[in-house]
Amino acid sequence: MYLKCVLCVIYFSVVTSRTIYVELNPPSTEQLSFLKKYGYLPEEQGDADFAYTPQSLSEALRKMQAFAGLPETGALDDDTKKLFRTKRCGVKDIDSSPSSPRSKRYILQQAWDKKHITYRVVNGSSTLGKSRVEQLMEVGLEMWAPHGALSFSRVDSGRGDIQVTFVGGDHGDGFPFDGPGRVVAHAFPPPHGAMHFDDDELWGDNPEEDEEDVTDFFAVAVHEIGHALGMSHSNVKASVMYPYYQVPVERLHMDDILGMQELYLKDQEELVESTESPAVSLVPRFTKAASEEEENYMPDLCMTNYDTLQVIHGKIFVFEEEWVWVLRDRNEMEDGYPQRFHDVFRGLPSHVSIIKTIYEKQNGNIIIFLLGRAYWEFDTSFRAIKEGTLSDYSIPEEVSELTTVFLSNYNNKTYLIEDERYWRYDERAGGMDRGFPKEMSMWRLVPYPVDAAIIWQGDTYFFQGPRFWRFDNELVQAHEYYPLPTAQVWFHCQSTADMDRYITNDGP
Ligand SMILES: [Zn+2]
Ligand SMILES: [Zn+2]
Repeated sequence: MYLKCVLCVIYFSVVTSRTIYVELNPPSTEQLSFLKKYGYLPEEQGDADFAYTPQSLSEALRKMQAFAGLPETGALDDDTKKLFRTKRCGVKDIDSSPSSPRSKRYILQQAWDKKHITYRVVNGSSTLGKSRVEQLMEVGLEMWAPHGALSFSRVDSGRGDIQVTFVGGDHGDGFPFDGPGRVVAHAFPPPHGAMHFDDDELWGDNPEEDEEDVTDFFAVAVHEIGHALGMSHSNVKASVMYPYYQVPVERLHMDDILGMQELYLKDQEELVESTESPAVSLVPRFTKAASEEEENYMPDLCMTNYDTLQVIHGKIFVFEEEWVWVLRDRNEMEDGYPQRFHDVFRGLPSHVSIIKTIYEKQNGNIIIFLLGRAYWEFDTSFRAIKEGTLSDYSIPEEVSELTTVFLSNYNNKTYLIEDERYWRYDERAGGMDRGFPKEMSMWRLVPYPVDAAIIWQGDTYFFQGPRFWRFDNELVQAHEYYPLPTAQVWFHCQSTADMDRYITNDGP
């Protein structure tokens, strides 16, 4: 079956010209199964008739390279080939199952529904005794504990919430290990919580030891504990949740900490969300039967993911659900906010419950994009003047919604972003620039889909989830010190000690 696929690849490559790398260098069976195993290529659908095109292979390589932090060539270059054979964790990098809903939020697993968690070390490895494994596990768990307000205790019999086992080869969970090298461990999210270490590795406990054959147990254990607590892989290379083996591991990265906070420290938001009515209601607001709790409810910028933000008339507008905050500068809130955005942008239909993205045109008018293809235009005093659709911007019909729109100060063009690609619109010429859409991956180190993009004091910033990046227009990539946490840097939210250290780090 694989042989057949490879032949298809060669055939397709001959008739298309832009895939020369794949043509010269088709991926091996082993490399194909790597791409599928970690979620970069969809699993074959049914029978062998399904073949990967050079385009889909090149795209898969590009995604794998992007996740690993390599140049996104889409080709099987030497660095990429090396990656296929690097020691790593066996858990998927990307959830590629077609049923997984596309979400702008992070792909996070579920958290434990309790704060005290037990663990049990069932055995040691042939090279690392059980009591040493127990010691190292304790240290590893303590690294994660404060960031989820968790506590851990060891049990010596029965079943712990997290069970640590050394096993080799096929060990009955459908994810067989592969002998020495490559996959060294994997772990399951709550409520399963098992951590399996490949017993065919030579496990060691001295990260200074520079033996290629020896795998440092602690470095791998800290990563696998992350999975057992519900964390997914991260493409941030310095983070513990980066999928490829890195040694030594001494502390968690901000990326790991933010992930934990999102999993474990947002009860307040979850409580509120679970008591809310459905987000979209066609009932006019003033007749909506609201409980007292709902009426008093106001989201907290420090606790929630805002929907979008934008600079309008020189101030920062932050949108979350039906609320808007206005800041005159970083961390300087205007008095009297939040307000309902319906009270600020007058004339917006009352059923509108969320602002998808918003930007200011060159003439000072404001465009609000809603869910779907509709938008509303407001004059400079925030009064609705007309309704339109994405067709007015020459956005193709198949695009159901934009994620972010912003006007660049670099070239005075309007960028219209849909998840992984973007168009460039020339407001003065009244038309789309040629050669678009382009891939978001062209903007190196910028995450996508982005929740917002703004120009602030001459710099371009991208926002996603709880983090933001500053973009270098000349280098066409994000500045290396980013991302930083949005709430602490922009919204004057209280920091934890870890965040303080990170923010005051001799950064930009
Ligand atoms: Zn992993
Ligand atoms: Zn296993």
